[in-house]
Amino acid sequence: MLIEIESLFTIIGEVVVYFVFLLLLVAILGSLLIGYSFKTEKFIFPGFMLFSITLLENLVKALFRLINMDDSIVDDVGIALKNKISMRKFRNTPINKRLIFFPQCLRAINCPSKLSPEGMQCINCGNCEVGQAKKTAEELGYKVFIVPGSSFIRRLVRKHKPSAILGVGCITEIKAGLEMCEKLNLYGEGLVLEKAGCVATVLDWDKFYEFIETT
Ligand code: SF4
Repeated sequence: MLIEIESLFTIIGEVVVYFVFLLLLVAILGSLLIGYSFKTEKFIFPGFMLFSITLLENLVKALFRLINMDDSIVDDVGIALKNKISMRKFRNTPINKRLIFFPQCLRAINCPSKLSPEGMQCINCGNCEVGQAKKTAEELGYKVFIVPGSSFIRRLVRKHKPSAILGVGCITEIKAGLEMCEKLNLYGEGLVLEKAGCVATVLDWDKFYEFIETT
């Protein structure tokens, strides 16, 4: 009996060691592919990369830190990958079924807009680019909102029932937004801010206009 228990523990131990080894192997391969994609902007085995980023994010980031590389590369590639995966379906979505969300931190510090249940009500005062960008996107058929937080986004999504969303925000917000889109079966695209923060954040507006005019 004692021998049977000992051999059972041995088997369990071996299984655990193999499992940890397998996870490490997946994380190392995922990290190599992520590093390669970041350098070349080419995605090889995107499904495998997404799997390693989604399930082993902390381990993959730890490997990046171990070799003195910036672990935000993992987030950058993860977002680019998710954007690429949903791009075709986003493109095929009629523009009037798409919403755009800007974060309120993108507004000018002296922004005169007032908060409403639909987010900040921009009057296109000219103090920042948000007003012109909103106008251009609305002329194309998008519904555009400037929101103070994720609770607004969830409420506006429930109200307007879009099929696709373009979100602008910091890396953390974009990651959360894309996850929300996956859960709600929406086609999400994320544009990451060039400079994040609480106020006066910066977006590459050329990238934004290019996206809405060509997608
Ligand atoms: S353009 Fe709109 S968002 Fe920008 S400062 Fe003026 S009112 Fe605020």
